Amino acid sequence: MADLTPLILRVAVPSPLRRLFDYLVPSEMVANAPQAALQPGCRVTVTFGRREVTGLIIERTDQTEFELAKLKPINALIDSEPLLPPSLFKLFIWAARYYQHPIGDALFSTLPILLRKGELPPSQGQRCWQLSSLGKGLGPDSLKQARKQRAVIDLLRTEGTVSDERIVESFSRAILSQLEQKSLIEPIVRDIPKTPLETLLKQDSLALYPSQQQALDAIDHHSFNCSLLDGITGSGKTEVYLQSIEKALRYERQALVLIPEISLTPQTEKRFRDRFNVPIVMLHSGLSDKQRLQAWMLARAGTAKIILGTRSAIFTPLQAPGLIILDEEHDQSYKQQEGFRYSARDLAVIRAQQENIPIILGSATPSLESLNNCRVGRYQHLVLSTRAGNAVQPDWKIIDLKTERTDSGIAATTLAAIGDTLNNNHQVLVFLNRRGFAPAMLCHQCGWTAECHSCDSRLTVHRARGRLICHHCDYQQRTPQQCPSCQSHQLVAAGEGTERSEAYLQRCFPQTKVLRVDRDSTRKKGTMQEVFDTADSGQPCILIGTQMLAKGHHFENVTLVAVLDADSGLFSPDFRSHERMGQLLTQVAGRSGRGDMPGRVFVQTHQPDHPLLELLITRGYGHFAEQLMPQRQLTQLPPFRHMAVIRAESNRADEAEAFLHLARKIAQSLVPATPQLSYLGPLPAIMEKRAGRFRYLLQVESDQRATLQPLLSAVALELENHKDSRRVRWSILSLIHISEPTRPLYIS
Ligand code: ADP
Ligand code: ZN
Ligand code: ZN
Repeated sequence: MADLTPLILRVAVPSPLRRLFDYLVPSEMVANAPQAALQPGCRVTVTFGRREVTGLIIERTDQTEFELAKLKPINALIDSEPLLPPSLFKLFIWAARYYQHPIGDALFSTLPILLRKGELPPSQGQRCWQLSSLGKGLGPDSLKQARKQRAVIDLLRTEGTVSDERIVESFSRAILSQLEQKSLIEPIVRDIPKTPLETLLKQDSLALYPSQQQALDAIDHHSFNCSLLDGITGSGKTEVYLQSIEKALRYERQALVLIPEISLTPQTEKRFRDRFNVPIVMLHSGLSDKQRLQAWMLARAGTAKIILGTRSAIFTPLQAPGLIILDEEHDQSYKQQEGFRYSARDLAVIRAQQENIPIILGSATPSLESLNNCRVGRYQHLVLSTRAGNAVQPDWKIIDLKTERTDSGIAATTLAAIGDTLNNNHQVLVFLNRRGFAPAMLCHQCGWTAECHSCDSRLTVHRARGRLICHHCDYQQRTPQQCPSCQSHQLVAAGEGTERSEAYLQRCFPQTKVLRVDRDSTRKKGTMQEVFDTADSGQPCILIGTQMLAKGHHFENVTLVAVLDADSGLFSPDFRSHERMGQLLTQVAGRSGRGDMPGRVFVQTHQPDHPLLELLITRGYGHFAEQLMPQRQLTQLPPFRHMAVIRAESNRADEAEAFLHLARKIAQSLVPATPQLSYLGPLPAIMEKRAGRFRYLLQVESDQRATLQPLLSAVALELENHKDSRRVRWSILSLIHISEPTRPLYIS
């Protein structure tokens, strides 16, 4: 008798709904499909609404809350075995719950796009060419007229099979396809040869300094442990990573290495490739869909031994995970801010725990969260306190803007120091975290200022492009010649951005190369390469830019760093702004004097006596961070208290606000406010109107994550089912994504 228990699959589909959907497996499919094709982690095609979509099996069951007869059938199976290994699958389920995000959307937004579209994964090995039997029989005199084609034939005759990669170094694709059309050659896929352990290293590893050795020894490769490698820039963290990776490779395991932005640090990739003889793949936003899928599959198959990637690479399947490294752990770019919001750092720790492998978080300026995790014993704190080689820490100098005038943002003392440095044949780095020519345009006659119609913000003057641009919604208009309010011609660009300071420096030093690095200048391909080439050439130059310049670069010949505006970090409503200022200043300063010459750092500020600035400069980031910690505790902010924010946006302010009143009512009916759990709001966000939408926040705070998490899940479900939820755009932000606290920070 046939088995009558139905097989039901719970399937995640790309949808904003926070639930899975039940589908029935037709009995002939159960009978004919390979068992592995019906397991969690496999893709299927299903009808969803009126569309046919790719879904992913999350669970198998024989129960459903719906009427069996009403369940739709699975249309087709795509994979013959799970695409995602079970441990990674568990990570997704965990993340969707933790970040209050629909599982289907979380899964599908991180899968390579071709897999989302239902394509089959490409074959795994190395693509090669060999002679067909027709080709083997070809006489020595044929193809005399086609010399290149003949050369390919001869090459394949001597070598048997040659990888596609190697062949296209010397011959064009056209030649190959002509030969293939004549059926003289044929493609085959060969297993990628394994690197024997003896030849793992291309280059000897360095003899470690004692503190590096201690750090390396403290990282246990047999089980989960999390280390914070806290070492000033240039202290040799990367060398510890490399030797730790070497250990993992010797255990025949893979290493996953996350870095903030690959395009900004090509040197990192080179250091890995120079050291190891193993296949390394890169995963970053610059890849084509095909390249991304290829790299993803090589990691999944275990062929790629080192996977180097940016934030979303944390979701790469690994066949034999052995180590996770996350460099510059404090970096903002690890936070995905749109759609499925997650922190790659936090997920990396969870993933290491689930895979039972070590993880290293490295930084010269660790986040308060990670330092606190060391304090309470969750992470081990490994400190590298001296710079490798001869490099010494730079000298700081504060420039008081209350007493010194500036031109285009640059004080006279700073300008003189730039001149001296160039005269000594050294390089200068100028840092200003504001792109464009000027942050505002105003009328000298009537006081009119150019504002964005869709945001509560001013338009930025971009002089080279002749435009005013909103940096929040990208609205653009031609720069007016006349005041729209009083018709006066006296329009002035007020304040300075990188473009203005760049122009001024170029005027002051007409013989010197001045290069700008910001989101505008790097839009042009090759800008970063020119910056690296110029810096490497050692010739005197000025590099001016935003925080893009602060990241991990190693510029040997830079001996002066000038920070044009330290004040924006001292007076921002964001509760993390002091921490960030400390990180940024330390990172920028770390670009100075990395070679053998000592470096100087000039910091321009209106607050030369600010105690935090002084602490940072005199005692360094470690003491600075220690000082911030009790402040966070006192004001009950993360990492000491858990917070979440429900955010609603609508083109009508009252709708957004009303929705959050509803959210608060629902939440309070589930968990009433107590001293341990409090609600604040709805309140308008600091920038209330952005891109034409009004934004409101409801803040929920708790002593314990354990109360916050289930409460938010329950509220999300109720809100999702409420009719008003379709009128507003809403989301739940966990504490790591909150940058707009609604309550005042400075309680006097
Ligand atoms: P970080 O990653 O902390 O910025 P790096 O690992 O890049 O530091 O080291 C800075 C410089 O010091 C590099 O040029 C590196 O080759 C060198 N270095 C690091 N460790 C050693 C060592 N043990 N012996 C000699 N040179 C070292
Ligand atoms: Zn006017
Ligand atoms: Zn705008």
